[in-house]
Amino acid sequence: MTSAIYPGSFDPVTNGHLDIANRAAALFDELIIGVYDRPSKHLLFSTGERVDLMKKAVAHLRNVRVASYNGLTVDFARKMKAKVMVRGLRMSSDFEREFEMALMNKKLDHDIELVCLMTSLEFQFLSSSLLKEVFELGGDISALVPKDVAIALKEKFPETRKRDGK
Ligand code: ADP
Repeated sequence: MTSAIYPGSFDPVTNGHLDIANRAAALFDELIIGVYDRPSKHLLFSTGERVDLMKKAVAHLRNVRVASYNGLTVDFARKMKAKVMVRGLRMSSDFEREFEMALMNKKLDHDIELVCLMTSLEFQFLSSSLLKEVFELGGDISALVPKDVAIALKEKFPETRKRDGK
């Protein structure tokens, strides 16, 4: 049985993340989505909220679990008994970052392999940070995120709700 982890900040989960999760779930026996507790970036959603939104988003996938973690991602992989780490690639800058991290992770644990899945064309431009910016500025993001995420974003930005008359 091959287990894989799919780690990330998921602040919040987008349809781009879900596309990768769906495809990885079809490739591996078990996929564990690791919600990183404290990335070095400003977060909008708490760890509990990010885990909760992710759980709702992947509820239809029977071989997928969601867990939060802190510390090294390779340690999380070991704890989950996963030999594969899945990441998504959108553009060349993603590749450079993933390549660097993969080499470091290989130094830390030689047994864990990185598998990168290319983004689907329609999600190439989609990142959680751009999504939040567009939402705050009043853009329609409903086609880019699961329904529960759209609701959670409205709750985070009451001003946007007022503006939209909701
Ligand atoms: P991190 O902070 O670890 O980069 P993210 O939550 O931003 O976490 O992303 C998690 C993973 O999902 C990363 O591998 C990222 O490249 C990938 N990803 C994010 N958005 C997309 C997308 N639109 N299409 C494909 N992969 C994506």
